[in-house]
Amino acid sequence: MSLIADLTARLGPGAVLSGAEVPARAVSDASETGRHRPVALLRPSSTDEVSAALAICHRHAQPVVPQGGMTGLAGGANPGEGEVALCLDRLSGIEEIDPDGATMTLRAGTVLQVAQEAAETAGFLLPIDLGSRGSCQIGGIIANNAGGVRVIRHGMTRNNLLGVEAVLADGTVVSNLNKLTKNNTGYDLTQLLAGSEGTLAVITRAVLRLRPLPRARCTALCALEDFADVIELLKQARIALPGLSALEVMWEDYFALLQEAEGIRLLSPAPPFAVIIEAEGMDEARLTEGFEDFLGRALGAGILTDALVARSLKEAGAFWAVREGHHLSRLMPHLINLDVSLDIGRMEEFATGCRRALRDRFADIRVLFFGHAGDGNLHIAADEPLPGQDDATHELCAIVYDLVRKAGGSISAEHGIGTLKRAYLGCSRSPAELAVMRALKRALDPEGMLNPGKLLGAAE
Ligand SMILES: Cc1cc2nc3c(=O)[nH]c(=O)nc-3n(C[C@H](O)[C@H](O)[C@H](O)COP(=O)(O)OP(=O)(O)OC[C@H]3O[C@@H](n4cnc5c(N)ncnc54)[C@H](O)[C@@H]3O)c2cc1C
Repeated sequence: MSLIADLTARLGPGAVLSGAEVPARAVSDASETGRHRPVALLRPSSTDEVSAALAICHRHAQPVVPQGGMTGLAGGANPGEGEVALCLDRLSGIEEIDPDGATMTLRAGTVLQVAQEAAETAGFLLPIDLGSRGSCQIGGIIANNAGGVRVIRHGMTRNNLLGVEAVLADGTVVSNLNKLTKNNTGYDLTQLLAGSEGTLAVITRAVLRLRPLPRARCTALCALEDFADVIELLKQARIALPGLSALEVMWEDYFALLQEAEGIRLLSPAPPFAVIIEAEGMDEARLTEGFEDFLGRALGAGILTDALVARSLKEAGAFWAVREGHHLSRLMPHLINLDVSLDIGRMEEFATGCRRALRDRFADIRVLFFGHAGDGNLHIAADEPLPGQDDATHELCAIVYDLVRKAGGSISAEHGIGTLKRAYLGCSRSPAELAVMRALKRALDPEGMLNPGKLLGAAE
């Protein structure tokens, strides 16, 4: 039997789309770098069906790319030529919220926002939050170990992950839907899959940790003159601002551009650095008093030159709209989006050096900086130097990642490696580390059927 006939016989015709039935969204993630339509798109609705689909593909020596919400920014979910895509959208839904243990068990295709809302209805906070919350899926955020805006308080996805069920390339189901906080029983397969980018297994279900739902949140947009002040604000906030849940920084040109695009005037003229600071807690009056006291002291000490405190969710939403930069891809149609991690103490020196190095090579190139300063994560938005010419883009990336290497940073803070950063992985990982990663890949997927060419490269 042919591959498609085999898959259709097991999954049913509605779960196997091929040829013109495959929707365009299966071609590329949000990096818009995908070039190949998968030969088929599989839509299993249970772990058993994922297992059967992978076992059939394995028998046919058919490579498979797992697809979640397709919001990834590293090309990780893009099909290679001749690949089958396996999407998890029909394997969705919350299975259990355990109020005593404060955990949520859910299926991998559940959209993050749906899970957040279910947690909230049950009186809990699901502490993972990203700008793509309306589309990205639980399996995708685990496979990418996504970060987001509240990492400073609640950690990355892996810090909120207790257990997973996953299917190996040959169809073997490995279930570890652990709900225990303490469980030292050997190698941690759950954590191994966090950040594995669909190269080791297809995640089908997960257990996430929930937190108490904060009853109050305070948000301010602050103006600062100097990056040293950003660092001082962060240091003091860690000590004196209980419930600190976000500290985001925008360089002047980024803030000015995105503020204008939103059609609002929050801080005008744009300060050298604009910072969003946010804290959450249980008692609104106490939180507000502590928050405003903290800002007052920072203003008195000259760390801040101005601060706007949001008086409503709408005002806080306006601050976040500028930071999340929803207009960025319209304003910079040939956008290269880089996502690096650095010691906060080296961030300003890095940004200045990076802008200089890129302008020395590509005159007048627009390079904007913003990011999650509270956890050392800097986003760099640059124009493609020569739109459509990959060599120039590679040159730009090589310049930036070499500077990251010299600064002892990471070339991917939270977006993953995918295909776009694969060639530069050695800037952040030693040969010994890469050898261990290849050995793990060979152990779990000896035939190289799962997401080939991603993260470690095709031949690894
Ligand atoms: C507007 C916007 C804002 C964003 N903000 C952030 C942010 O703040 N922080 C951040 O970290 N990222 C951010 N991202 C990037 C992206 O949303 C995250 O990387 C997210 O985790 C991707 O989830 P997804 O379901 O869309 O995965 P996809 O893009 O579909 O896939 C991502 C990777 O995971 C693999 N995969 C998907 N599902 C599974 C599964 N069930 N099992 C195994 N492998 C799987 C794929 O093969 C691929 O390698 C943003 C993206 C956008 C467009």
